[in-house]
Amino acid sequence: MAAIDGLPPLRAVIARHGLRARKALGQNFLLDLNLTARIARQAGDLSACDVLEVGPGPGGLTRALLAGGARRVLAVEKDSRCLSALAEIADAWPGRLEVLNADALEIDPTAHLSPPIRVVANLPYNIGTELLVRWLSPSEWPPFWESLTLMFQKEVAQRIVAQPGSKTYGRLAVLAQWRSTARIVMELPPQAFTPPPKVRSAVVHIEALPAPRFPADAQLLGRVVAAAFNQRRKMLRSALRGLAPDIETHIEAAGLRPTDRAEQVPVEGFCALARELAGEHAPRDREASPGHR
Ligand code: SAM
Repeated sequence: MAAIDGLPPLRAVIARHGLRARKALGQNFLLDLNLTARIARQAGDLSACDVLEVGPGPGGLTRALLAGGARRVLAVEKDSRCLSALAEIADAWPGRLEVLNADALEIDPTAHLSPPIRVVANLPYNIGTELLVRWLSPSEWPPFWESLTLMFQKEVAQRIVAQPGSKTYGRLAVLAQWRSTARIVMELPPQAFTPPPKVRSAVVHIEALPAPRFPADAQLLGRVVAAAFNQRRKMLRSALRGLAPDIETHIEAAGLRPTDRAEQVPVEGFCALARELAGEHAPRDREASPGHR
């Protein structure tokens, strides 16, 4: 069956442009255009949105985003070998695809995009978590993006949606769930990729809430959560000792127990503690007990 965009099958594109996958760049390509179309659909209606795609590679997901109606796509690719293949896609969709040959960690994509903006990507495994943490951590909210639809190793996806009390609950879950909703929307076996990775993958869809669920300073909350989960087996009073001299008093004032471990503390509890450490002793912090309701 001919592709909707009239472009050749991805295997032919890869062969013609010599795109042998490089492990160092996290290159596991999706060559099934039905599958890339399914991923693009998870991002919702893109017809009124600019889309940021990190790591288009030979362009399977890029083609799905454009065929799916995205207003514009900015594709940021570090590997210059992919540029000629991506130029052919840009020619097939005049004025709708901009390709930047750059390291996604080094550029500000917002300079190239107009709101509303959605991010859709099959991320390179080696920078996926770092990019996600950046996108979830701006000091001001709402962020530049409305939603993130991202492929990760399944184990990372599970950490993003994990609930308190589970072994996978940690910094990523708190960051993702404080100001967004996050859910796993697809799972993919290794054979879906060329070459197949060692592990299963999953697509996570994250939507930014208009405002945080609970007030807290983003930087301070980030420090509290990083310290708490850095030593996740320790009780809060030991894990957080470096944050303030009288940390046990702050923990109790935030409605938590100094003997709790980080993985028992819900997002609300971390926010209460960050407010307490910032000196915002709101009365409801003392009445409520976010860790034990
Ligand atoms: N989107 C394609 C697909 O689904 O078939 C390729 C996905 S592959 C998992 C990751 C892509 O990210 C590769 O094309 C790789 O070259 C690119 N990449 C790796 N590191 C990057 C970086 N720092 N900035 C931008 N792109 C990067």
